[in-house]
Amino acid sequence: MTSYIFQPAPAPFLPIAGKRDVFPVRRIFCVGQNYAQHAVEMGAKPGAASGIPVFFMKPADSLTHDGDTILYPPETNSLHHEVELVVALHSGGMNIAEDDALDHVFGYTVGLDLTRRDLQKQAKDGGKPWDLSKGFDCAAPCGLLIPASTLQQNPPAGAIQLSVNGELRQDGQLGDMIWPVPRLIALLSRFITLGAGDILMTGTPEGVGPLERGDKVDAHINGIGDLSVTVK
Ligand code: MN
Repeated sequence: MTSYIFQPAPAPFLPIAGKRDVFPVRRIFCVGQNYAQHAVEMGAKPGAASGIPVFFMKPADSLTHDGDTILYPPETNSLHHEVELVVALHSGGMNIAEDDALDHVFGYTVGLDLTRRDLQKQAKDGGKPWDLSKGFDCAAPCGLLIPASTLQQNPPAGAIQLSVNGELRQDGQLGDMIWPVPRLIALLSRFITLGAGDILMTGTPEGVGPLERGDKVDAHINGIGDLSVTVK
């Protein structure tokens, strides 16, 4: 048995509705510009559904939970909110067929793809990687995981919303995704072997904007639930 020179960090996890056991998170994948109107507000042309979306990652330990206080990250003056449907996989593989993709889904939750927008813009303008604009402490708040087996609709449909201090900022529809959940899983599995514990943030609708210290953020997805965090 392998013996470590120090105790490895415990796996980040998602709590599961109705269960004591938690979902251990292995990797956090994300997709960019999966809603046409968000692509437009970012100054981009919406991608074609027949193409491949932009995939990127956040460190798994950037995950935080409902009710947590988010530390305003250093080295930015523009921390943006992006509310997203998060898909959690309990199995995986390579080259998963779109028709089989939902077999790998354990459940869904509501999450935030927090973004240092100024660093992301600098990276884009300079043709450089944007990792540090997406990956930092507390960059991935996620709510209670809802098992797909308990849902009336899989993948879920309906409203995805975000309010800041009670003011509605994002109000979208999951059905407006350019690449729906099964297609995202199939496409991502062409590039990487997906596995149990991987989660995927599926993109944000329009209305992204800056957060300030002291802001209370409330995210909601119809049929999935709520997530609230405060920025410090
Ligand atoms: Mn995003």
